Amino acid sequence: MASNNQYDVIIIGSGAGGGTLAYALAPSGKRILLLERGDYVPREKDNWDTRAVNVEAKYHPKETWRDKDGKPLHPHTNYYVGGNTKFYGAALFRLRREDFGELRHHGGFSPAWPISYDELEPYYTRAEELYQVHGQRGADPTEPPASKPYPFPAVSHEPRIQQLSDDLKALGLKPFHVPLGIMLDEKNPRTSRCIRCNTCDGHPCLIYAKADAQVVCVDPALQHPNVTLVTGAYVERLETSPTGREVSKVIVKRNGAREEFQGNVVVVSCGAINSAALLLRSVSDKHPRGLANSSDVVGRFYMGHTNGVVLALSKCPNPTVFQKTLAVNDFYFGDKEFNFPMGHISFVGKLDGVTLSAGAPAIAPGWTLDLMGKHSLDFWLTSEDLPDSANRVTLNRDGEIVLSYTPNNLEAYNRLVKKLEQVMQRQTKCSAHGHDCHVGLFARNLFLGQRIPLAGVAHQNGTIRFGRDPKTSALDPDCTAHDVDNLYVVDGSFFPSSGAVNPALTIMANALRVGDRILERLR
Ligand SMILES: Cc1cc2nc3c(=O)[nH]c(=O)nc-3n(C[C@H](O)[C@H](O)[C@H](O)COP(=O)(O)OP(=O)(O)OC[C@H]3O[C@@H](n4cnc5c(N)ncnc54)[C@H](O)[C@@H]3O)c2cc1C
Ligand code: SF4
Repeated sequence: MASNNQYDVIIIGSGAGGGTLAYALAPSGKRILLLERGDYVPREKDNWDTRAVNVEAKYHPKETWRDKDGKPLHPHTNYYVGGNTKFYGAALFRLRREDFGELRHHGGFSPAWPISYDELEPYYTRAEELYQVHGQRGADPTEPPASKPYPFPAVSHEPRIQQLSDDLKALGLKPFHVPLGIMLDEKNPRTSRCIRCNTCDGHPCLIYAKADAQVVCVDPALQHPNVTLVTGAYVERLETSPTGREVSKVIVKRNGAREEFQGNVVVVSCGAINSAALLLRSVSDKHPRGLANSSDVVGRFYMGHTNGVVLALSKCPNPTVFQKTLAVNDFYFGDKEFNFPMGHISFVGKLDGVTLSAGAPAIAPGWTLDLMGKHSLDFWLTSEDLPDSANRVTLNRDGEIVLSYTPNNLEAYNRLVKKLEQVMQRQTKCSAHGHDCHVGLFARNLFLGQRIPLAGVAHQNGTIRFGRDPKTSALDPDCTAHDVDNLYVVDGSFFPSSGAVNPALTIMANALRVGDRILERLR
């Protein structure tokens, strides 16, 4: 570590945003400090144990947040080097081109972004290369134009998923392969780093074959002598110069002691909820509503997608090992019956009886949890929730995070479930049972291992939105704070709207974009 604690760039948080940015800045030779509150995920057999991960929530923080009524929330999030990407399903989607414009929804409007899809496109391409995305262009009916093919071929379907894909195609739909950041080489299974296992989505990869921010960004960045990582470094507060126009000190609590660091540029990337909390904690005379918050938007417009796990039970078993290979976007922007966006259908990793015992599953009559796990197709549905200023992160008097959220645009999600139901009922491919093979759909409690759906904050975004107008946004289009010249934010907070595909690739691509701006500035 530099003796004087003075750096060119300090990045707070090492996940999809911060880790990717560290990678982008590392070759510059500038002195870069990465502060991460967590440690490395311990490598142990429990990484791949569904009971430890999904039932005992071994890797979740023992931290209590509150909902708007003051009830405790135990957040389904992860504080480690690599952030939540250590646990993600590595489904790496681009937002659709239309998601960057204003879109009319059943429940209101999804606002336009201050940058266009075309501005982000080169960075999506770079992010797909960096995160080794395996996919197939031209198959997803809503995909935006791309300047290059995916760097690796799509991950194949196993037979049950291939059967479903054939069935969906016979019904006129366009199922396609999920773009995935896993290091699978199907042609050379003996040397492939990834072994295609059943504990990927929601689990850390014990053998470092998942393209997460630690493995593909932080570890390579640390090969550069100018990059320093400090773990166990909880950033409590940011202090400013007397004018209030620049962050002058980063105050860290580490091993119970207070430490201070200075950076010419300070980048906040703690995840949408913790980044908002950090800025709100950093109140001062010059920033009485929280740092960079003259607009009063910091913490507001929280979004997290309307997500659900829906089990489709069939009489035929589903012996799939790696299930997250198929997705359907035919209903993303709506259809003839419902002319509003509905969202995205895809899969979670294969659920087993142990995982199903977490939360409160609706048990199908005559089925045990084990049997359900052996026969279910475990869909993951994502619909867009709309930015609402009342959905927000605040701090209570004890300094705890309060997450106030009222779901909206729910009709989109309900229609999407109905569509899935209709499609599943029309399946024909089963030679043993025909139409009768499909027993029905069973909604699972939204987030595994949690009884409180709000605690599932996997797709958190939107709390420090970017925009052109300093009255209605906290960041400018380059993700610099309107109010503070040397402060940037590169995690999921900057989203003014959330689209309905998984957010990580957009966060990574944006971090690379902002990285270019910071490099220009440092030059
Ligand atoms: C189980 C699961 C599955 C998922 N699957 C997918 C998927 O398939 N596809 C997809 O696109 N997305 C997926 N996601 C979401 C994806 O992981 C997140 O969108 C992404 O990681 C968010 O990036 P971020 O940079 O905003 O925050 P994070 O990746 O959460 O990084 C924030 C970092 O900041 C650190 N930090 C927080 N507060 C402080 C502080 N005060 N001081 C210092 N450090 C701090 C945290 O420890 C963390 O390392 C999934 C998430 C989960 C939990
Ligand atoms: S081996 Fe492959 S499938 Fe298993 S956790 Fe690692 S990346 Fe995921």
